[in-house]
Amino acid sequence: SIVPDYLTDALADVEPNMQGELAGYIPELAAADPGRLGAVFATVDGEVHGAGDVDVTFTIQSISKPFVYALALSDRGFAPVLAKVGVEPSGEAFNEISVERGTGRPRNPMINAGAITVHSVAGAEGLTPTERVDRVIRGLSAFAGRDLTVDETVCASEMESAHRNLAIAHMLRSYGILTEDPRAVVDGYIRQCSVLVTTRDLAVMAATLANRGVNPRTGQQVVDAAVVRQVLSVMATCGMYDAAGDWATQVGIPAKSGVAGGLIGALPGQVGIATFSPRLDAHGNSVRGVSLFERFASDMGLHVMEVP
Ligand code: GLU
Repeated sequence: SIVPDYLTDALADVEPNMQGELAGYIPELAAADPGRLGAVFATVDGEVHGAGDVDVTFTIQSISKPFVYALALSDRGFAPVLAKVGVEPSGEAFNEISVERGTGRPRNPMINAGAITVHSVAGAEGLTPTERVDRVIRGLSAFAGRDLTVDETVCASEMESAHRNLAIAHMLRSYGILTEDPRAVVDGYIRQCSVLVTTRDLAVMAATLANRGVNPRTGQQVVDAAVVRQVLSVMATCGMYDAAGDWATQVGIPAKSGVAGGLIGALPGQVGIATFSPRLDAHGNSVRGVSLFERFASDMGLHVMEVP
């Protein structure tokens, strides 16, 4: 395959770019190696090709959001989840305290208010917080095709400085969107964000979305096709925070970024793509990740609005 050579060249092109900063609000993330760089393509036929730091682990952070949204839709059905979390782009930062006036319903599942709420409705009704976290980690593992674990150091570090997410959860509790102890929900959400993945894992997870919910490596149907359509639509409109419009025009595939430096994109019916580079732009998206995706889009005509 010529893919690894292509990826090696693409990484070499973006490598000198030192722009951006590590996420500073989670103390442990600020200690990451900023020089890491990797990219992986996973096709719906199960081929996986990468270059650079493809097997280095880092925390999934917000890239967990679309997958846990998928699990919640799959476990509870659409109506109960949509009653609690909308699907309108907020055009605001990830940690904006952004909810609908009056109802307190978070605008979408990709901002923290929405993702914290989605975490609370993942798994069957009536699970304890610990059982729910187990369900979430097992579900993320099914998307990746291997057993994933939590980085306890990052998790503890984020929990200690989680004032903003706790404030969001308390506000959601006051509106009755959350119906249990806000602290337990934030604790579970932060464990979800602290799951360790590699760039290779993320590409397979994205490929599972590109492949109608069937993991192309294991053959497991993780969620059904209707759930995937919902998730990819929300990623397309809300996945890149307040840079969603730039992304939609420049790259044009459903995507999700995380503050540890991961970035995924899924081209339905074709490929899952993941990149890893920890320095972030002002929106919280990986600088070199975004430029790699822009390059992939123009070299390969990935944009979903482009006629092949
Ligand atoms: N755990 C992070 C938070 O909730 C995730 C943010 C992100 O990756 O954008 O603040």
